[in-house]
Amino acid sequence: MDLDELRADLDQIIREADAALAVAEEEPQETDEDDAIDIDADREEAMLEATAERRVEALAAVARMDAGTYGDCIDCGNKIPEERLSFRPEAARCLSCQERFEQQ
Ligand SMILES: [Zn+2]
Repeated sequence: MDLDELRADLDQIIREADAALAVAEEEPQETDEDDAIDIDADREEAMLEATAERRVEALAAVARMDAGTYGDCIDCGNKIPEERLSFRPEAARCLSCQERFEQQ
């Protein structure tokens, strides 16, 4: 497992999230009462929430790298498969624990 490469991926996720969230903060508040715009605003808010969530997960993953526990599932302690980490470097759980977590 190439930790340097994964850390670079995580840094990029954090940087991109910071940029997206900074842009969102600069945007003027919607005052239009149009329903279509409300839907757009809701969708954007949901997207920003997902971005903020991913940023937190990426920061936690960097912290796990520093602690030397990166790549271990935080629930069962098993190794998270490398192909999962290359796809989602911020993943804190193996696939089966993640599925169980999301069903709760
Ligand atoms: Zn697990």
